[in-house]
Amino acid sequence: MDDLPQLRSRRSLTLRFDIPISKTREFWESLSRGKFVTTKCANCGRVSFPPQSDCPDCMASESEWVDLGPEASLVTFTQVRVTPASFEGKGPYTIAIAEFRDGVRALAWLEGVDPETAEPGMKVRIEARTGEGGNPYYVFVPS
Ligand SMILES: [Zn+2]
Repeated sequence: MDDLPQLRSRRSLTLRFDIPISKTREFWESLSRGKFVTTKCANCGRVSFPPQSDCPDCMASESEWVDLGPEASLVTFTQVRVTPASFEGKGPYTIAIAEFRDGVRALAWLEGVDPETAEPGMKVRIEARTGEGGNPYYVFVPS
């Protein structure tokens, strides 16, 4: 135990990711127009979210885009008070899971709702946002 190094300083580490979006471009372009779409397998009919290039059930590569509508129902949520380093200075914030028609569930930040008054079943809708560096993301807001 005596030969373990002691921690004397802290250094920041920056990670950068390039995420290919060619197969999900339709999702982001639709979202920027206020439409929430995802993939439906042309073979077995499974609706997946996030959009999938290959069906997780039958592995078929043929799919079609289906409009889920922006409206969803809040399933559950939690408020984050102790934020991870990557969200330093952004807390507290609320993370929620909401369910769209066809039973599709998505995870996103919940904005514009006091977590003290939010409750499962309340109606929310998904909205597009643009983050630092121009990257798109989405949030839930009250419907
Ligand atoms: Zn399938």
